[in-house]
Amino acid sequence: MSVRGYIRPERLWQMVDRLSTAGLRVVAPTTVDGLCQFGVVTAANQVVTDYLLPQNTFKEFLFPKQEQVFTYLRNGDGSYLLTEPRRAFPETVVLGARPCDTVGIMGSLAAVFGGDKWGYEDPLFTERRRVTTVVSFSCDRPDISCFCTTQGLGPDDPKGSDVLITRTEGDAPVCVVEVFSARGEALLDHLGDLVAADRDASGLALARKQAGALARERFVRVFDISQVKTFLDNPGNFDDEMFERLGTKCVSCGVCTFECPTCHCFDFQDVGAPGSGERIKIWDSCQLPDFTLHASGHQPRKTSWERYRNRFLCKFKIYEDAFEALGCTGCGRCVRDCPVHVDITSYAMQANKKQQLVQIGA
Ligand code: SF4
Ligand code: SF4
Repeated sequence: MSVRGYIRPERLWQMVDRLSTAGLRVVAPTTVDGLCQFGVVTAANQVVTDYLLPQNTFKEFLFPKQEQVFTYLRNGDGSYLLTEPRRAFPETVVLGARPCDTVGIMGSLAAVFGGDKWGYEDPLFTERRRVTTVVSFSCDRPDISCFCTTQGLGPDDPKGSDVLITRTEGDAPVCVVEVFSARGEALLDHLGDLVAADRDASGLALARKQAGALARERFVRVFDISQVKTFLDNPGNFDDEMFERLGTKCVSCGVCTFECPTCHCFDFQDVGAPGSGERIKIWDSCQLPDFTLHASGHQPRKTSWERYRNRFLCKFKIYEDAFEALGCTGCGRCVRDCPVHVDITSYAMQANKKQQLVQIGA
């Protein structure tokens, strides 16, 4: 049994103080630029405690928006001196992650950067992953845009979490603590008596299960997308009319990719002069007009709808084919925050419907 005890709700965020005092970097929902976002905190009073889903994911703490790869300096003989920066990978605890983000980052993103599936390892990611412990908090209700249950996940899904904390319902709620990894076990040592163990573990497990079931019942965006992959696997559907019809309003801002827990595209850019400067690794987006622009001037994805088609394919086909991982965890951010209301679930529902019609011969 993974249940290790419980924390009283009023003491939950005291975890920040305990972990900070122990010298760990703590990432939790806080206020950044007036918005609830994951950020570094050092005390419980810096945390936003009433939140559903922070605007960003915590992926930037394993895959920074921008970082220096090396500096370059041209020598007198024309050769270059390359110097890598001193890197620090602090022991980090992410507190209050939501299960959809945890699966997306510690599962899907790790499948891309971790080298397990296709032999390429990004050591900058894997080193950070090695020193990161994720404490997920089960959701007790969905945001209007959430659809994780449609994606085979759920508000209390433990995949990828080192620790999962679920608040029970009823008159005397407690926060049930479950541990799923050695890193989670080590974390308990830091939490000490914050995690009480004076109750029957099977009773806690039952209350935690009931809380998860109640949360699931509150999901309203639940739909059948079982045929989407089959639809996308058919090359004849690449030019289906729905892509242009649904995607022309996209203004190529890239918000949907930057907020997504599984989007992983990046670019290398040289900043400085030809003789000296730095090479940086920086987030990129398949939605931006210059993403696939060739040096010849040829642009294979000229329009915003063609670029969004690529995003849809990435989430519902390419991720699964290439990395055997879930491309979309149903976090709903891209649905909620697209400035022109491009909705990836409407693509999924229409693709599903079209494939169903094929199957019944209509
Ligand atoms: S789909 Fe929406 S959020 Fe994504 S690039 Fe287009 S306009 Fe921006
Ligand atoms: S595609 Fe959209 S809903 Fe799916 S994980 Fe990414 S941001 Fe969330």
